[in-house]
Amino acid sequence: MTQIKKIGLYTSGGDAPGMNAAIRAVVRTALFYDIEVVGILRGYHGMIRGEFMPMGRKSVSNIVQRGGTILKTARSDQFKTPEGRKKAYDQLKSQDIDALVAIGGDGTFTGALAFGSEFDMPIVGLPGTIDNDLAGTDFTIGYDTAINTVVNAVDKIRDTAESHNRLFIVEVMGRDSGLIALRTGIAAGAEAILIPENKDGMAHLFDRLENGRKDKTSRIVIAAEGDDAGGAFEIGRIVTERFPHYDTRVSILGHIQRGGKPTCMDRVLASRVGVAAVEALRDGHRNEMIGVIHNEISYTPFGSALKRSTEINANFLKIVEILSL
Ligand code: ATP
Repeated sequence: MTQIKKIGLYTSGGDAPGMNAAIRAVVRTALFYDIEVVGILRGYHGMIRGEFMPMGRKSVSNIVQRGGTILKTARSDQFKTPEGRKKAYDQLKSQDIDALVAIGGDGTFTGALAFGSEFDMPIVGLPGTIDNDLAGTDFTIGYDTAINTVVNAVDKIRDTAESHNRLFIVEVMGRDSGLIALRTGIAAGAEAILIPENKDGMAHLFDRLENGRKDKTSRIVIAAEGDDAGGAFEIGRIVTERFPHYDTRVSILGHIQRGGKPTCMDRVLASRVGVAAVEALRDGHRNEMIGVIHNEISYTPFGSALKRSTEINANFLKIVEILSL
């Protein structure tokens, strides 16, 4: 058992629904084990500037259901330098913080990995990102809420598409990963899905529009923002040029995908990994991301968590193809 007296807790990178539930779980679990918690505002940016706030039982009341992050989040270029990380370490030491819990995505863990190799301070991470693009957990905190938000929005777009017999290109988040597009495309009954991991997406879409059933009254194409075709408006332009008889429209869902109340799945995931993070620090874990694999808590070294697989489940694409007949 490692003697930890004071944990520093921060959220960093893009916010994700469920981060607050994770914050609450970490704070309450630490208090349960008589460990103090200091909230670090605005991620690494606030760590370097010494933006700290003590956190008690009440400071996390009534947040389990709230989107965003009460600790705020930011990006910090200074933390990418050894000098910036040294400043951060000095600030933490001035508060007698002896361990860290980081909630964020791949950039956050890259920073934690660098910091953990330079200073003797245990850090564990919780996967908080809507992208679900980390290895070492089946799902990341925020992904379930984001895909439900997308599906609700696309259902609404479907109503208007159906009324006007239109084809809609809907852009969803995912700069490097098509995982949001892939699941929401299936759930929303998409005609085709365009994702960075599949280079045949446009060819497949053209084939669908040329040779597919002609009596469809609406069509939805889901495109991840990082797809190679150049963004939803460019895809819309290409489709309009090639298929002028389709009444094509473009809709970019944007930041609504990050907000809103976390789903039950995200709250439970956040609560489980939040409790496990504090217990992991007590058990001597460090430089690991705490996730859930096959419904069991998992511990993945930061370096391995960052090696996200670029492979997607090919079955999912086949499902889209079969079901869009
Ligand atoms: P999301 O996946 O939701 O965007 P993220 O954690 O990947 O979240 P980033 O903006 O990529 O978000 O990273 C958050 C912060 O982590 C950066 O602003 C920076 O301070 C730190 N960071 C990222 N890369 C490095 C690095 N190579 N070295 C040190 N720190 C880094």
